[in-house]
Amino acid sequence: MEHKVRIALMALVLALLVLRLLLLDSADEAQGEGSVIWHNEQELAVMAELENREAAPVYTVSDGSMEADSEYADLYPDMYVTAVMPESRQEEERIAYLTFDDGPSSVTGDILDTLKEEGIRATFFVLGSTMTEQGEENLKRMAREGHTIGIHTYSHEYQDIYASVESFLKDFNRVYEQITELTGVKPAIFRFPWGSYNEYCREIKDEIVEELGRRGFTYYDWNVSAEDSVGTPTAESIYENIRKDYTKYTQPVILMHDSGSNALTAQILPEVIRMIRESGYTFDTLDHREPCQFGY
Ligand SMILES: [Zn+2]
Repeated sequence: MEHKVRIALMALVLALLVLRLLLLDSADEAQGEGSVIWHNEQELAVMAELENREAAPVYTVSDGSMEADSEYADLYPDMYVTAVMPESRQEEERIAYLTFDDGPSSVTGDILDTLKEEGIRATFFVLGSTMTEQGEENLKRMAREGHTIGIHTYSHEYQDIYASVESFLKDFNRVYEQITELTGVKPAIFRFPWGSYNEYCREIKDEIVEELGRRGFTYYDWNVSAEDSVGTPTAESIYENIRKDYTKYTQPVILMHDSGSNALTAQILPEVIRMIRESGYTFDTLDHREPCQFGY
């Protein structure tokens, strides 16, 4: 009898040992597969920050890892940028953002001179098709002197760029490569020719925004227009168009142009800067600002 009890006890101990081994094994496997991973506090903080970042769609940092989601993923594998990260500003803080479209041109050098004299940084949305040797020098100068370069398409021809999403991307990539090669800077912001709300791009605009957003690009419209590229402007009309509107905003985004036909803009610029400065504004580049986009 005593013998049987001893055997039974030994069997029980053995069974318990086997069971314990099995349990340990499966726990190891689970950890190996990544379902049970422990993080220290620092790692958890970094993870939380990354998650928060991904929750803000406009500023998502794009590194190309989301390529699979897009039908345009195979196109232009180098056209990915780190999205701009606007600085946090108080709403009442007065900052003016001077922007110049359609350059560089023979006028751009004068504008850069004025900005340098005034110690101001601005934003240039440039074209590729009109680039001259002088334009290339001015583009490099923009980068060197701390201005922000944005893309305004290569051709600015609405029949080309707005024919389809593919044709927009093709044109966009052309000037993107041009800027990157000349300056070493990857432009991460852009402005639609005629702004984001125009009849040429209405059909495909959302898709362009989505695809370029996926690649890290942010677009900016404006809220004050100098109207220096419409009709027959005068230096006075340019000044007046800005004067009547910019104080409506604590952070105005002012549309001007530096194409070859905008000598008057360059001429009146020092006075425009003086006016804005005297009413308590400082100046900055657009990539530091929350996106300014037309609401419609
Ligand atoms: Zn334009």
